[in-house]
Amino acid sequence: MAASRYLLRTFGCQMNEHDSERIGGMLRSDGMTPTGDPSEARVVVLNTCAIRENADNRLYGNLGHLKPLKERNPDLRVVVAGCLAQKDQGRIQERAPWVDVVVGTHALPHLLDLLRLSETDGPQMDVREYTDLFPSALPAAREDDFRAWVSVSVGCDNACTFCIVPLVRGAQRSRPLGDILAEVQGLARRGVVEITLLGQNVNAYGRDLTTPDRSGRPLFADLLRRVNEVEGLRRIRFTSPHPHDFTQDVIAAMAESENVCEHIHFPLQSGSDRVLKAMRRSYRRDRYLGWLDRIRKAVPGIAISTDVIVGFPGETEGDFADTLDVVGRARFESAYTFQYSARPGTRAALFEQQVPQEVVQERFERLVALQERISLERSTEQVGKTFEVLVEGGDRKGRSTQARTRTNRIVHLREPLGAGAFVLARIVSAHPHHLTGEVVPAVGTVAV
Ligand code: SF4
Repeated sequence: MAASRYLLRTFGCQMNEHDSERIGGMLRSDGMTPTGDPSEARVVVLNTCAIRENADNRLYGNLGHLKPLKERNPDLRVVVAGCLAQKDQGRIQERAPWVDVVVGTHALPHLLDLLRLSETDGPQMDVREYTDLFPSALPAAREDDFRAWVSVSVGCDNACTFCIVPLVRGAQRSRPLGDILAEVQGLARRGVVEITLLGQNVNAYGRDLTTPDRSGRPLFADLLRRVNEVEGLRRIRFTSPHPHDFTQDVIAAMAESENVCEHIHFPLQSGSDRVLKAMRRSYRRDRYLGWLDRIRKAVPGIAISTDVIVGFPGETEGDFADTLDVVGRARFESAYTFQYSARPGTRAALFEQQVPQEVVQERFERLVALQERISLERSTEQVGKTFEVLVEGGDRKGRSTQARTRTNRIVHLREPLGAGAFVLARIVSAHPHHLTGEVVPAVGTVAV
């Protein structure tokens, strides 16, 4: 066993991956290097997510695999971090006593101390709700050197009945604007050209900040405008917004900030007003469609992706027809479609009238078929146009280069190109989830 290697497994959403960058950064700053082989590792960290289905089973399945390793090598440190650590707390070490450290989402900056203490004092757990610590302030081990996530807030003040986030991440806490700008400026100086501003409810940024002069409190539109001024950045993205917080000022800031990309993720969840109410989403279908119209008018060419949940408790065939109707009208470029499954700890898990699985499956298939058709139509509209694309590297199968438009469309190119390069690509064919293109010389008209 090498004395100083760590293995880090990440199970979840972008916020979770962002936390993993910080976990990796802290372990590297402590002199460790990553490995993919558990038998080489001195520290194994499972960074968990409570949002995904079967999260508990995956965690305890992984811990089960680590048990014989820990028995053979008592010096191995097993760490459970992330949302499940925050949610399950002491239950984790009850079920898996070979876990050395349980570290909650708010306590991440204490990871190295907890590891050291576990060597002398036995198993450790820290799930306290620190309010003065922000994971973004920690060193990061990033996968790419040309793009980065920047956390602007954590937690959420909403109470959607299907969502575990408020329970595991707590109320919203925004990071001071100056800290965010300092991080973005530092990244740009090191050659990062694309950043994604990250928050569970990103466009509610700033609502919780207090300043001596309340009128001076920066909000999300101010943040976009200020980040747009950072020298060297070419692309700014953000996720995940709540439709309710897409104020006129946010739309105006997007339209006037040239580096803010023409793409938003705009979660619908359901097209039925009755279901939206049961989900405690604050908008209704007509209002949602009205926002889409305003955004598309203000930012021509913008691409919009969404989330839709099928089979929420009590969803009738009529409710589902409303969802199909809104999806048909909205003509999203892409959609993440989910079959509802109860997450322990959420209000909706206690609702009666859970929809039978075979009904959920059948509705899900109809929704996917509709969205696939729309996605292909939207992709086909791009054929013949030329876009500036940012090269991300080889595709997963190693057969082509993968690049991305400002509108977040994936473009496969035949030419081998270095990650981080900007090139112009003319689109030659369309598929529901990607485009294929060819590199063209830097002349002519570039579409958004
Ligand atoms: S707004 Fe998003 S993060 Fe907040 S409770 Fe609703 S789904 Fe969860």
